[in-house]
Amino acid sequence: MKKEAFKESIYNFKKAWKFARKQKKLLIGYFILSLGLCLISAIAPMLDAKGLLYLTAGKWNSLFLIAALILIVEITRNTCHFFSQRCSQIFFRETLLQIQYTMATEMLKLETEEIDHHSTGTFIDRLTKDTGDIANIFTQLNYSITDILSNIGVMAAIFIINKWVFLYFLIGLIILYLMNRIKMKKYFTLDKELRKINERNTGLTSELIRGMRDIKVLNAGTTFLNKLRNKLSTSNQERYKMSGIMRRYQWLTGSFQDVLTFLFNVLGIYLVSIHNLTISNFVILYMYQSRVYNLLSYMTQFLEHYKNFNVSAERVFQVLDEDVFKKEIFGEKHIGKINGDFEFKNVSFSYANGKPILKNLNFSVSANETVSFVGKSGAGKSTIFSLLTKLYPVHKGKILIDGHDINTLDKDSIRDNISIITQNPYIFNFSIRENLKIVKEDVTDEEMIEACKMACLHDFIMTLENGYDTVVGEGGLTLSGGERQRLAIARALLKKTEIILFDEATSALDNKTQNSIRKAIKNMQGEYTILMIAHRLSTVIDSDRIIVIDEGKVVEEGTHEYLLHHSNLYRDLYEQELEEVK
Ligand code: ADP
Repeated sequence: MKKEAFKESIYNFKKAWKFARKQKKLLIGYFILSLGLCLISAIAPMLDAKGLLYLTAGKWNSLFLIAALILIVEITRNTCHFFSQRCSQIFFRETLLQIQYTMATEMLKLETEEIDHHSTGTFIDRLTKDTGDIANIFTQLNYSITDILSNIGVMAAIFIINKWVFLYFLIGLIILYLMNRIKMKKYFTLDKELRKINERNTGLTSELIRGMRDIKVLNAGTTFLNKLRNKLSTSNQERYKMSGIMRRYQWLTGSFQDVLTFLFNVLGIYLVSIHNLTISNFVILYMYQSRVYNLLSYMTQFLEHYKNFNVSAERVFQVLDEDVFKKEIFGEKHIGKINGDFEFKNVSFSYANGKPILKNLNFSVSANETVSFVGKSGAGKSTIFSLLTKLYPVHKGKILIDGHDINTLDKDSIRDNISIITQNPYIFNFSIRENLKIVKEDVTDEEMIEACKMACLHDFIMTLENGYDTVVGEGGLTLSGGERQRLAIARALLKKTEIILFDEATSALDNKTQNSIRKAIKNMQGEYTILMIAHRLSTVIDSDRIIVIDEGKVVEEGTHEYLLHHSNLYRDLYEQELEEVK
């Protein structure tokens, strides 16, 4: 093993042990029981051999005694096995939970840009599959150590019985081990590649499920399935290559072992014929033979788990550590409840592709003001919201919340004080009650009803058979766009944040729903700082101020009346909308 790889393994083990440490008593219990099992397994062949000899000699009483002993030994082995499995399974369950929980926690800290640029599969596979390999390594290590120890005991016994047979087994083992090394090298190079391919496949499969409705309506099933088939066939080919390596190896080692067994018989018969070995010892050695090969398969299994562990650990720790997937960075300052005024000072911003989106943006909003942003699509309005919620960090210019630079504030000071209601808010596949509880665990029924009434959603909920306990489907599938937005408004109201950002839904909503939403916003006006991206200028007339954004800059601001007379862009947008209504 190369020095670097060894160092990396030690690092991985140390990190993985942090998750397993709490369950170490279970691991010790498992180790002791496994040692007991090994001891029993070492005794069993001797009893079998003795039994066989008594049988051929017709010593029935002794044979009966041996049979009874074998029964006791086997029952003890079975019981030991039961408890050792129990220990290892509880250990695995608890360790896995800890790794997965930490992994999920760390995923929530990832920079939004990382999520933009990776498929869901990148994270799903690591969370669900790779974590298992990490939790598995300790029980596997334990299992292998005890088995290897007991089998080394078997080798020692063979050495004592006959040195020639011992030498013969040793040479056989070394050859089998070398064959195995070659297989492992090829196998794990492919495995690394396969996991990358699988990540992409999981991503595509989850898109198949989430985009199912659109795929159906677009009647794009064939195209999508062709895409999926290509991807799946690549990964299946890769998997086939891997099983091919295993198949060839098994054939080769199986045949080699058959030859070894044959040669062992020849050697044994020869040694017996020259009186170098007694018949009873020959029978015992014959019984031990399979255990010698087991030693190799235990080592092989362990090496496989060890390699698997390293590949998985690398993938999991890439998410847990900061060096591959970047994490969000927050400041230290905690400011509790804010007044709700903020300012953008010379803010410039571009996404990862480097294209400038916001260019030296300047504006300020006072507490409890309602301000609307208007401008062409792609002007940068939603980006302003993303920066204010720190979904993306600002590197050029400053955003001040209550006079504090956003980059100096801790996560809670920002996210507990600002809510965002997007055009298509994500509603979880829980009941309406649970969706509301997600922002406030101890919410009372009264608070919930009050928020839903303000969001003009309560009456609708009352029409549902199970009311607040209605489960809404993945992404709020069973709700209309307007209902989803109003549920998101209720969520924001429950959070009682001072600043509410609202990306108004486009014309997809009917007039009645639009009015309900408008009424919901009106209910909040004056009490909260409300920022709105208005896609329909009819919505902005009620705002205290309107800011016109064009190509990432503020080009004008004022009331509706003022802008109609002073901003060409605003007038154009307004006239365009009047045209559309006609
Ligand atoms: P608006 O809300 O005014 O329609 P946006 O702020 O959504 O505009 O988008 C501004 C520009 O930024 C658009 O050209 C859009 O394609 C680009 N953009 C938006 N989100 C991302 C992203 N996550 N990564 C890269 N480019 C983005």
